[in-house]
Amino acid sequence: MNGQMMSQPLLISALLNHAERHHGKREIVSRRVEGDIHRYTFRDLAARARRLAKALNELGVKPGERVGTLAWNGYRHMELYYAVSGSGAVLHTLNPRLHSDQLVWIAEHAEDRVLCFDLTFLPLVEAMATRLKGIRQFVLLTDRAHMPAQSTIPNLLCYEELIAAQDDRYQWPTLDENSASSLCYTSGTTGNPKGVLYSHRSTVLHTYASVMPDALNVSARDVILPVVPMFHVNAWGLPYSACMVGAKLVFPGAVLDGKSLYELFESEDVTMSAGVPTVWQSLLAHVAADKLKFSTMRRTVIGGSACPPSMTRAFERDHDVKVIHVWGMTELSPLGTTCVLKPVHDSLDEQALASVKAKQGRSLFGIDMKIVGPDGDELPWDGQTSGELMVRGAWVVDQYLKGEGGDPLIDGWFPTGDMAAIDDDGFMQITDRAKDVIKSGGEWIGSIDLENIAMAHPAVSMAACIAAKHPKWDERPLLVVVTKSEQKVTREEMLAFYEGKIAKWWTPDDVVFLDAIPLGATGKMLKNRLREEFGNHLVSMATALELEGQVSPQ
Ligand code: ADP
Repeated sequence: MNGQMMSQPLLISALLNHAERHHGKREIVSRRVEGDIHRYTFRDLAARARRLAKALNELGVKPGERVGTLAWNGYRHMELYYAVSGSGAVLHTLNPRLHSDQLVWIAEHAEDRVLCFDLTFLPLVEAMATRLKGIRQFVLLTDRAHMPAQSTIPNLLCYEELIAAQDDRYQWPTLDENSASSLCYTSGTTGNPKGVLYSHRSTVLHTYASVMPDALNVSARDVILPVVPMFHVNAWGLPYSACMVGAKLVFPGAVLDGKSLYELFESEDVTMSAGVPTVWQSLLAHVAADKLKFSTMRRTVIGGSACPPSMTRAFERDHDVKVIHVWGMTELSPLGTTCVLKPVHDSLDEQALASVKAKQGRSLFGIDMKIVGPDGDELPWDGQTSGELMVRGAWVVDQYLKGEGGDPLIDGWFPTGDMAAIDDDGFMQITDRAKDVIKSGGEWIGSIDLENIAMAHPAVSMAACIAAKHPKWDERPLLVVVTKSEQKVTREEMLAFYEGKIAKWWTPDDVVFLDAIPLGATGKMLKNRLREEFGNHLVSMATALELEGQVSPQ
C-alpha cells in the first residue's frame, strides 16, 4: 500500500524558488574580479538565473549536456549553479589552479560544450582554446565594457549581453530527481582524475543534512562567506544551503589574502565561513599581527585536510570562533562527518576535549560508515583500532563518469582510501590517507598526529610528515617544516618538542626546513611531491654517517 502524500521530485531549482519566494530580500554580496563590490538579492538571483537558463537554451544546450565553469566565488557563478542544473544541463566546475594540460584533458573527457569563465582566466582560456575541441561556445563572465578589444578565442560571447537579451519568464522543467545536476573531478593525485556526477536528489539530500544543527548549523540568521572555492566540491554545498535556509552570502572573488578576507568579514557582518586549514593560516597570522578581533564571526568550518588542534585553539580561545571540523570527499559531494560534541563530552577536561575536537567527527544522517582490516572484516569502534574507512549513503558515488576505473564499490560500500579509527561515541578520526601511511618495521605511524604536534610549536607555520625510506626500518617519519617569518627553531628543538607527547619510536628521524610546502589545486599539502623529493633523505643521511664512520641514527 502506498502512502498518500504528494510526490515532488527533489530538484535544485526548488531551492532557488524557495529562496526567491521566502527569502527574496536576503542579500548576496560579491567582490567582483572587475574590482568593485556588487550586491543584489535572492530575488535578483532567481530572475537572472531564469534569463540565463533561456540564454543557454538558445545557445543549444541540451538536457544532460555539460557546461563548464572556470570561475571564482561570485554571483555570476551562483547564477550558473542554478541555471545550468535547473534547466536540466550539467554544471561542471573546473579547478583553474590545475595545469592547463590537465584542464584540457578534463574538459574533453567530460565533453563540456560551453565554457563560462571569469576575466582573470582569459589568458588561460586563450592558451587552451584551440585544444578544447568539444567546446562550442566560450562565454566571458563580464559586461561589454570589460570585454577585450581583441581575443584569439573565436566568437567570444559576453555573459551580460546573453542575460540582457532574455526576459525572466521561464518555468524550471520538472526533471527526474535522479537526473545528473553537476560534475566534479577528483584531484587525481594518483592516476587520472575521475568524474563524479551528482544528481538533483543527492544534492538536495546533502543540503538538508548539512544545514542541520549538529552539522553546519546554518540558518536564516547566518551570513556565510565561503572561502572554499565553488570549484572545490560545490564550495562544500554552501551555495545550496544558503538558498535552503535564506542565509546571506558573501563571495570573496579572487582576493583571498588574510587582510582582504578580514575586511569582508567585518564589513558584511559575516557569522560563518569555511575553508581548508592552509587558508586560515594566513588569516590567523593577519589578525594576530594586527591584534584584531572578529566582531560577528561565530564559527568556521574547516576540512579538506586535518585541522591541527593548535588552529582550533587559536580560533576558539583567542577569537571565540567555534571550529566545525569536517571530513568529506569529492565522492560525497562532499560532507560525510562533522565534529560536533555530544552531551557525553560535557564533563571532559580541556585536554580530553581537544583530543575529541581533533577528530573528524560523526556521520551525518544519510551516510553510514565502518572501518575494515586488510581482509575486509569490520573492525571494532574502540577509538584505537585503525582500518580503511568505508562509506555508503544517498550522496556517495556509485560509479565514476564513463565507468572509469571499474566498479568502485566493495559489497555496496565505497572504500575511501583513508585510514581511520572510530570511538564508541561514533567519532571518526583519520589517521592517514592510505597512501601517506608511514610503515616503520611493519608498524604504522600516523602522520597526521605528528603534523598536529609540530603545528603546536610556536615557530611552526606549516608541517608535513612523510614516509622516508630507511635502510633498517623500511620507512621512518621525516618531518618537513616551514617556520614563521622571524622565528627560528633548530632540528634538535623540534625533535625534543615530541618528547612525552607520543611513543618515542614515533619521533621523526630528521627535520627538513623549507621556505614553502608545495600545495595542490585545492590548497592541500602535496605530500607525494615531498616524498619524491625527500623520500631518500634518510638513506642518504645514513650513508653519509657511515662514510664518516658514525653509527646510523636508528
Ligand atoms: P583530493 O584531496 O584528492 O583533492 P578531495 O578534495 O575529495 O580530493 O579530498 C578528499 C580527501 O581529503 C579525503 O579522502 C581525506 O583524505 C582528506 N580529508 C578531507 N577532510 C579531511 C579532514 N578533516 N581531515 C583529514 N583529511 C581530510
